[in-house]
Amino acid sequence: METTTRQGTTGYNAKVEIFRDQEYPMLNGCVYLDHAGTTPYPKSLMDRFAQDMTSNLFGNPHSASASSQLSTSRIEDIRLRVLQFFNADPDEFDLVFVANATAGIKLVADALRAAPDGFDYAYHYASHTSLVGVREETRNSLCLDDKEVEALASGSSPFSSAERPVLFAYPGQSNMDGRRYPLSWSRTVRDKCTSGNRKVYTLLDAAALVCSSPLDLSCPDTAPDFTVLSFYKIFGFPDLGALIVRRGAEDVFLPTRYFGGGTVDMVVCLKEQWHAPKSQFLHERLEHGTLPIHNIIALDSALDVHKELFGSMQEVSTHTGFLHKRLYRGLKSLRHGNQNSVCTMYSPDQDEAFEAGPVIAFNIQNGQNAWVSLAEVEKLATLKNFHIRTGGVCNPGGITSALGLEPWEMKQNFSSGFRCGTDNDIMAGKPTGVIRVSLGAMSTISDVDSFLGFISEFYRDLSPSLMSRQSLRPSNKAELVVHSISIYPIKSCGGFEVPPGIDWEVRPEGLAWDREWCLVHQGTGQALSQKRYPKMALIRPFLDFERGELRVRYVGPVPSHVHREISLPLSKNPSLFQRLTASFRSKASRVCGEEILAQIYSVPEINNFFSEVLGVPCLLARFPPGGQGKSMRHSKAHLQKHQTSLAPVPGSFPRPPSPPDSDSEKTSSERRILLANESPILAITLPSLDALNAEIKRSGNHKGDVSAAVFRANIVIGPSSKQRNQMEPYAEDTWPSIRIGGHKYEMLGSCRRCHMVCINQETAEKSEEPFVTLSKTRRFDGKVFFGTHMGYAGGYEKVQTIRIGERVEPDW
Ligand SMILES: *Cc1c(COP(=O)(O)O)cnc(C)c1O
Repeated sequence: METTTRQGTTGYNAKVEIFRDQEYPMLNGCVYLDHAGTTPYPKSLMDRFAQDMTSNLFGNPHSASASSQLSTSRIEDIRLRVLQFFNADPDEFDLVFVANATAGIKLVADALRAAPDGFDYAYHYASHTSLVGVREETRNSLCLDDKEVEALASGSSPFSSAERPVLFAYPGQSNMDGRRYPLSWSRTVRDKCTSGNRKVYTLLDAAALVCSSPLDLSCPDTAPDFTVLSFYKIFGFPDLGALIVRRGAEDVFLPTRYFGGGTVDMVVCLKEQWHAPKSQFLHERLEHGTLPIHNIIALDSALDVHKELFGSMQEVSTHTGFLHKRLYRGLKSLRHGNQNSVCTMYSPDQDEAFEAGPVIAFNIQNGQNAWVSLAEVEKLATLKNFHIRTGGVCNPGGITSALGLEPWEMKQNFSSGFRCGTDNDIMAGKPTGVIRVSLGAMSTISDVDSFLGFISEFYRDLSPSLMSRQSLRPSNKAELVVHSISIYPIKSCGGFEVPPGIDWEVRPEGLAWDREWCLVHQGTGQALSQKRYPKMALIRPFLDFERGELRVRYVGPVPSHVHREISLPLSKNPSLFQRLTASFRSKASRVCGEEILAQIYSVPEINNFFSEVLGVPCLLARFPPGGQGKSMRHSKAHLQKHQTSLAPVPGSFPRPPSPPDSDSEKTSSERRILLANESPILAITLPSLDALNAEIKRSGNHKGDVSAAVFRANIVIGPSSKQRNQMEPYAEDTWPSIRIGGHKYEMLGSCRRCHMVCINQETAEKSEEPFVTLSKTRRFDGKVFFGTHMGYAGGYEKVQTIRIGERVEPDW
């Protein structure tokens, strides 16, 4: 009843809720909010396409066979159908099939570049990267803001040449923030600026616009000369794009010289060089080689099914418009306990002057107005199964203008290591990207509401003091000991527990044999991680000193022909051993984005074992201590702000150290590590783990206690027996240094966490905890922390060891 009313008054398509589960089974359990990236394809589309494919034989066009003729006629019908979808008269427009919108843009740029004197280029600042790149092919190029476009539209050309053609390009809708730009620009710029010999052409990037809005090309006089789009964004399938050319602008393509199969009527080669291009239709001259026949055929099914499920594009537009408003209002109105806004919106409100498509770009600030790291939002969203996009979203001008970043800041960020898609997304206190959520025809109210619920649950500070720390009582009453010691010989694989009574060697790089090996992807050289391959937890290494071997066993299910166990010599020179004829070669690999040179095992038996149990082609690599250059790495851990900004309880204990000055920073950055992510040694404490488990219980999300193993620490510190409840949780955050068995270790800062802590190290199964609770209780400056980095404070001179049960004494 209620949904019928909604439909009547708002245009909300309540039918979507009825067919959603059936048509989009792949969305089961997740919320898809990345329609600006691509849209999911309905099951009926795939079924209908499969039906079409299996009941017809489609040949390569250009021959007389029935199968070839069928392809030719279907393709011509579909070309017409797509033109009609945009109200474009085939006498006035031609449609060229291309791989995607970008290929359409490049086709136009290539043609204009072939003009005798090249071309000048003006593009709107909100252009997608694919439009911006055109500037590299031009004589002169300018990036324009709205005012400058209006000036252009009133006839004042910014370019001096009166002869050279000008291309003006802009997005119908920004892929970054959904802002829509006037379609009238296409006509006014062309008409007002064209003068004398100067021709002005307009290119509309409609890739984002047409996903949620009709595009009406019924009037050739007002239409853009070139319109580009990608079908996968509208229908989810096929992977195909189109360039729609106004016939009046076809002459742009005359200077192009290359010809490929299918585009010529005759070619003479041997004694003379001559050819006759096809002349009737533009598309015949521009579609080189065999067309993507089956992709084009799929468009028939896509158009049919889209109409059946969603009606017209106008209906899609009102449906997404309704949801957009709900999402926008919801995000904008979220407040922290102290009334500060949670979300900073970059997209225009629908009611503002510019019309806006259902795309919302924003960033989150905590209650103290500090920006929340995008990487952090993405980790939690991934865990909670929200599909969103974060970062620069391929819109350089839109991003810099939304975030107020100056070119020098962008360059400075670049030189201090910022790259698209890395974890360092807050540089110098400013965000470098946005969170983008986008809606499509198949989005529902519950998609919107669950996303609002997610942001509200995790990013609202209800009481300003919620995230600040409980007051610390002196913990020196509790006697602390080393509770357990674990070594992870192969990075991201299972741990090896050091047995009680053994003195384990501690080196400046960390505990002996810890993270000395890793698995790298055979193609990319990228180190594999449990985050991507949870089954790595089931690879269990065992250090067998009697035999001098690293034995590795896989405890998950394997097909019968696969070995469960292999072993390799611990010795650094395997050629000394007869049994293995391992020969090392070095390979440039990447660990946490850092380029390293590791030694790669070339024994097929070893590499096959890992590749088969994990189901990914990989190689075992070794990164022994003592390497130079790229065979050596340095610690990156440092004290975090939350550790140093704590006001001590008066009279209780000395202040924790201030952040490292430049000297001590130097020593910490010169601290060597092997393949650990950040530091030589990672430690956690049992009281902190207990506190976390208590929080999880309180949240009602409890499915059994989280084990210490998920944190993959080397050292677990706990009170000596019976005193467990006497030690304050998270005291380790404030320890400047500790002594274990009398040897000094420096604390190097809290350990930042990601959703890898949700992988059960026994079973390799993923869950939501403990990351969800950590995000609520242990987030500082928009990042989540648990445990502490540390390193042995002495040098290489004397051998130092650690043993279970040894006394741990914090230095206060
Ligand atoms: C997606 C998009 C593009 C690029 O589309 P491709 O399919 O990657 O070529 C260009 N412009 C806008 C506005 C887009 O949204």
